[in-house]
Amino acid sequence: MNLERGETKLNPVLVKQQKLTQTDVDKILDIHDEKIELIEKLMFAPILPNWKTKEFIVELEGLEFMCQKAWKLPQDKKMHTWYRDLDHCTCDKSLEWFGKERPIADDCPLHNL
Ligand SMILES: [Zn+2]
Repeated sequence: MNLERGETKLNPVLVKQQKLTQTDVDKILDIHDEKIELIEKLMFAPILPNWKTKEFIVELEGLEFMCQKAWKLPQDKKMHTWYRDLDHCTCDKSLEWFGKERPIADDCPLHNL
């Protein structure tokens, strides 16, 4: 089974555990491609109007949910990681918040729109 595309490599243990097929894996890789594209656009968020940034974030969260569904995992916002790739998110990005209610920084330009 091919679990790689570009810089994305899926966790083979999780793929096996979730009994995913190549079709499932390809769908996840497609979603990753879309996420990477959006994250690249969001890197320029400081020069984007707030409504546009917000639109990208809503889209990214939608992709994270789609990804969880494709992985046959529960759809849970507390497991989302999109903001970790964005330097201008000033929230605490440590993995200790993975699966928990992560606090939002007062000055985060992405989470206070
Ligand atoms: Zn943030």
